[in-house]
Amino acid sequence: MNSRIPVLIVGGGPVGLALAVELGWRGVACLLVEQTDGTITTPKMNEVNVRTMEFCRRWGIANAVQNCPFPADYPLDAVFVTTLAGYELGRVPRPARSTAQPDPFSPMRFQVCSQTWFDPILQNFARSLPTVELRYRHRLERFEQSLNGVTADIVDLTTGTHQRIEAAYLVGCDGANSAVRAALGIELAGTGTISHPAHMFFRTPNLLERFDRAPGTFFFPVGHGGVWGNLRVIDPVTGVWRLMVDEVGSAATPESIDKMSYVRRAVGRDIEVEWLGLSIWHRRSLVAERYSRGRIFLAGDAVHQLSPTGALGMNSGIGDAVDLGWKLAATLEGWGGAGLLDTYDTERRPIGVRNVKMATGFYLNIEGFGEVDGEIEHDNAAGERLRRELGERLVRNIGPEFRTIGLQIGYRYDGSPICIPDGTAAPPDTAETYTPSARPGARAPHVWLRDGRSILDLFGRGFVFLQFADDEQASGLAAAAAGQSIPLTIERLDEPEALRLYERRFVLVRPDGHVAWRSNSIIAEPTNLIDRVRGAAGIGEA
Ligand SMILES: Cc1cc2nc3c(=O)[nH]c(=O)nc-3n(C[C@H](O)[C@H](O)[C@H](O)COP(=O)(O)OP(=O)(O)OC[C@H]3O[C@@H](n4cnc5c(N)ncnc54)[C@H](O)[C@@H]3O)c2cc1C
Repeated sequence: MNSRIPVLIVGGGPVGLALAVELGWRGVACLLVEQTDGTITTPKMNEVNVRTMEFCRRWGIANAVQNCPFPADYPLDAVFVTTLAGYELGRVPRPARSTAQPDPFSPMRFQVCSQTWFDPILQNFARSLPTVELRYRHRLERFEQSLNGVTADIVDLTTGTHQRIEAAYLVGCDGANSAVRAALGIELAGTGTISHPAHMFFRTPNLLERFDRAPGTFFFPVGHGGVWGNLRVIDPVTGVWRLMVDEVGSAATPESIDKMSYVRRAVGRDIEVEWLGLSIWHRRSLVAERYSRGRIFLAGDAVHQLSPTGALGMNSGIGDAVDLGWKLAATLEGWGGAGLLDTYDTERRPIGVRNVKMATGFYLNIEGFGEVDGEIEHDNAAGERLRRELGERLVRNIGPEFRTIGLQIGYRYDGSPICIPDGTAAPPDTAETYTPSARPGARAPHVWLRDGRSILDLFGRGFVFLQFADDEQASGLAAAAAGQSIPLTIERLDEPEALRLYERRFVLVRPDGHVAWRSNSIIAEPTNLIDRVRGAAGIGEA
């Protein structure tokens, strides 16, 4: 049996699903094959960051994510304790979504939504898109590419039937042990494995109430050896928890781990739990040396493997999917230039390097916290002083991984050949702070419009030309775009606040919501500009 499809996606984790959604939302036909049945038994990801929530808003599924079973009024604090039953040392406040102040930088808030809920939301939305086909229990066995396309052999794991698929492009979203990456001979570079953690999932309702502990999502038990893991609530309603032990040793097996002793160590006494699962994994710090070869692309954990500290794994991968999605659509629709798909690597690989570095740094803050001297459990004035000082140090050193708005929305495609620099200096790229910027390469910043929409709601389908001035600037550009069949919308805005933020009277925003170009003056050569931003090779400065 043979069939031809524009894009074959290998892997139905959150990144493969996000790519299917992005392509389907753009009307591009794609087939996703996933070797499992799609059920998540031991969820890894829990924190959907602000940028991913902005993409969910664009796709129309933000409400579904916000309405997941994680209660909107549950405080998201990270808490340092001696044990759950012992002393509280310090607390990083993260208010519940329903009580948090509106964020000035985004229409969306970061959202706790376990993969158990998030992946099915993506699956259901993908299934609702007429050009997307999801095939579970199907595995990619091998593939080869030519100048014109990719041939892939897929096996149906239920029936054992083999099928040959002809595709224009293949995207490997097949996770950390990506066979697609290995077959392409693409190496990973970086520190490699930095620890051997174990996850233990269990159910025990009302755990915090038993110890009169104020709610939070993360509880870090701190002993004399320092910080050794964390207890994270997955579902406060049904009492599902995950205990992560940061280092169980490279030889550990699920059978060799004494789960109950770790629970006792974290909680401070024996409790009854219903065990739901255990997995041992490698905490890595690695980025692929390239993100594509020919007609084959890689995204997500296949190209960046990072510590979960900072919640950047899936969120980085979804950023990959969005960047690649519009470029594949543009190329398949014929308006993407010959160099457009190459910019996927140029733009996303530096973000992978940045995020892996940050995530590793957050983990090293934990690992390097060091031993804790003194009698932190003593119920006297000296013990109290030690606990206060220790708590302050913990919040100062480890707290930053929970304040990452700059990391989440401040990434930029500096130096991209399809963004035209305007000579302004780059704002600082720091994890904790975000400096709104409409400099080319940056995510177009959020501002509320007078009609109640976010300016981000204007972006997504095609290019958007923002015109904060009433003149004929747009007509030449519209004609140049039409000449190349480029989807372009002109938005004339009488919005002083937006003009102040965007700093130029004319701004061109790409389909992924990043600024491509901005200026106060008339576009002398609109065709040059259009060719540049669509990745038509060899075009000079616009
Ligand atoms: C403890 C922990 C907590 C985390 N918390 C967060 C968080 O809060 N936020 C966050 O953003 N990230 C988090 N992450 C990271 C996040 O889980 C991963 O980055 C994310 O799951 C990667 O998604 P992916 O789709 O690239 O890969 P995966 O989720 O690994 O999916 C790859 C899929 O490909 C399939 N596959 C592989 N080979 C084939 C084949 N040949 N044919 C068909 N299918 C194939 C696999 O079955 C799998 O389903 C966390 C990770 C851990 C370990």
